[in-house]
Amino acid sequence: MAGLPGACIRRQCTIDQNGNGRYDKGGCRHKSTGKAGEALRNKKELLFVVQQHQAMYLHWDFRLEMDGLLVSWALPDGPSINPKEKRLAFRVEDHDFRYKDFEGIIPGNDYASGKVLIWDRGSYEPQNAGTVCNLHEKWLSTGRLELTLHGTKLKGAWIIYRTAAKLYGEDTWCLCKKADTFSGTVEIVTAAPRSVVSGKTIGEITAADGVFDLNNYR
Ligand code: MN
Repeated sequence: MAGLPGACIRRQCTIDQNGNGRYDKGGCRHKSTGKAGEALRNKKELLFVVQQHQAMYLHWDFRLEMDGLLVSWALPDGPSINPKEKRLAFRVEDHDFRYKDFEGIIPGNDYASGKVLIWDRGSYEPQNAGTVCNLHEKWLSTGRLELTLHGTKLKGAWIIYRTAAKLYGEDTWCLCKKADTFSGTVEIVTAAPRSVVSGKTIGEITAADGVFDLNNYR
């Protein structure tokens, strides 16, 4: 890791060979007025993205912009809009912010190699964070994130929280929809499988859509 330092667009971090960014502490780039509400209003929108990833195992990567990086969880079953469904979400490494736009093929022969599709994307609002500065420390570290999503497919109130279980030795969380006008019983990952960018299904993704190159994320 130390041999491959890289800089994220907005924040210092190191990037490993798989394109994963690692967060370093640093100053907040957003001006704070000292009042959380004003800081939130002054901030541009925070972004979320869900990328379907046909790697060694099919999963959906749920990523939230925090402090200039994409904090990430891998969901083996993808998100559900049914409030009765708690979806396992394994915390994985933070990603470079620019990865939000990646759709295509990750070449090679490791656990991450395979097809990536931008399944949903939009803005989100943290609901119990107080401020949008230092979200890693002030929000993520609480292990209980309440948020509103403004995606194409995922909307309304959600919660992602850390569980006591450490399944497979991983940092184990659950993503769950809160009941509101955007919840329902349809299995949305199968009902709405297409990319919100290209309109393709995961099976239709080819190298022509993009080939992951670590050099683009340094
Ligand atoms: Mn993945």
